[in-house]
Amino acid sequence: MNHISPAPAGTKLKPGVVTGADYLTLLEACRAGGYALPAVNVVGTNSINAVLESASKNKADVIIQLSNGGARFFGGEGCPDAEAARVLGAVSAAQHVHTLAKAYGVCVVLHTDHADRSLLPWVNALIDHGEEHMKRTGQPLFSSHMIDLSAEPLETNIAECAAVLKRMAPLGMSLEIELGVTGGEEDGIGHDIEESADNAHLYTQPEDVLRAWEVLSPIGHVTMAASFGNVHGVYAPGNVKLRPEILKASQEAVAGKFGGGDKPMSLVFHGGSGSEKDKITEAVSYGVFKMNIDTDTQFAFAEPVGAYVQANPVAFTHQIDPSNGKPTKKLYDPRKWLRAAEKGVAKRLDEAFADLGSAGRSLAG
Ligand SMILES: [Zn+2]
Repeated sequence: MNHISPAPAGTKLKPGVVTGADYLTLLEACRAGGYALPAVNVVGTNSINAVLESASKNKADVIIQLSNGGARFFGGEGCPDAEAARVLGAVSAAQHVHTLAKAYGVCVVLHTDHADRSLLPWVNALIDHGEEHMKRTGQPLFSSHMIDLSAEPLETNIAECAAVLKRMAPLGMSLEIELGVTGGEEDGIGHDIEESADNAHLYTQPEDVLRAWEVLSPIGHVTMAASFGNVHGVYAPGNVKLRPEILKASQEAVAGKFGGGDKPMSLVFHGGSGSEKDKITEAVSYGVFKMNIDTDTQFAFAEPVGAYVQANPVAFTHQIDPSNGKPTKKLYDPRKWLRAAEKGVAKRLDEAFADLGSAGRSLAG
């Protein structure tokens, strides 16, 4: 058996990256405490450090995740071997987090984001690195990966996820799967939001959840991204309606058939950016422990940089200010405007920790 168990309630964890039983302890604290963690997509050390800064300030645990595109960017857009950069960029980002997280005094979950069929080799390569990291340090590199085969037939989705979970379970790693379709697009993986259709495909069916749980939960630890009208990105309201009661129905269906308490599944909310606060609170009450946020933190990174450039335009066109003959170096130093970006992300995350009820609840002791 590959199954691991959480520590008793109230157990403190070492600050740093949490994996295996410690990850389950964190999930159990979220479930029992009725709160969730933001899962923030990162693309470089600036965005990682901003996430750690906000988590530390809020005394909150946090999830840091990489999409395949984020990992590719981390590895360098100019790297001539794109596939190597996609894998090694994720490894490098993870190592950065392993190195620094302790110093921020909080628990950090390391995750990857949407991998469709074409990206299964990426996930498997990262599991290879996870096995190597486990041998060297006693801990896998990532806490959890995410496979999104929601566009494929249910049985295909489940069978492919089962194959990957069989590799991850001996490392104590968790797998996030997707049932039903998250609308919108993220890193080229996405689905249309049709204006007039009833959008039934955007709502997960409880019988699909039952089937996935039946097959996957005996293999290892699995978390579920169930769709309840959520979309990637921020759109004008009206096309799709958030229906968190779908999450409640899924929990009740699984509890009724397989037991495990009133909220047996750890649920994931994709497309948290721009969502109504009362729907977030309701979703968390039904067992959502992870809310993905990317679009809003991208804007939070960009907006202060735009303001900085507008306030100091000459520094971005001249190394010597023609109006007074003085050097502009202190203004164009990348640390100035990148720091503004970091502060923007950290401020947006202050809001996310508050929305999700996770501020002040770090398990790090
Ligand atoms: Zn997503």
